[in-house]
Amino acid sequence: MSILNEILTYNQKFVENKEYEPFQTTKFPDKGLVIVSCMDTRLTELMPSAMNIKNGDVKIIKSAGAVISHPFGSVMRSILVAIYALKAEEVMVIGHYDCGMSNVNADALIAEMQDRGVEPSTLDTLKYSGLDLKKWVQGFESVEESVQNSVELVRNHPLLPEGIKVHGLVIDPATGRLDVVDADN
Ligand SMILES: [Zn+2]
Repeated sequence: MSILNEILTYNQKFVENKEYEPFQTTKFPDKGLVIVSCMDTRLTELMPSAMNIKNGDVKIIKSAGAVISHPFGSVMRSILVAIYALKAEEVMVIGHYDCGMSNVNADALIAEMQDRGVEPSTLDTLKYSGLDLKKWVQGFESVEESVQNSVELVRNHPLLPEGIKVHGLVIDPATGRLDVVDADN
């Protein structure tokens, strides 16, 4: 059985019992902040709690490794929308220690794709259409370096307006402790 049915059953009661009431807020981030963080399961509740962030406070964009890999990809677009349409004024890129994206073995991952039915011809087609698959799935060696790269990408983005502060941090997924990589003061 899929997790979907379990969630739908819970959801029906949640709505019926009006358990949503404590979460009601607007679409505008009260703290004027956008966070880019990792999809790691340990951070789901820990990161907002450790930062005193409540529903309605911030925009949170998640990507594997908190990496912004393309200046015109969906993460950067989300940041720009948060700034221009939703009044965010500050950006934080928050990586974390012990991240699944550190030292990803790209060759093993691509081999796993083939084991699970992706045809070699598909990989060839992607290659000929200009995608370096290995580079695309590759993670990073140093989380600090990766965060710094993403911070620079945002700071130097041609569509970023003046006056937006962009910070880089790393969070401990066990304790929630934040270490500053680069503070934009
Ligand atoms: Zn991670």
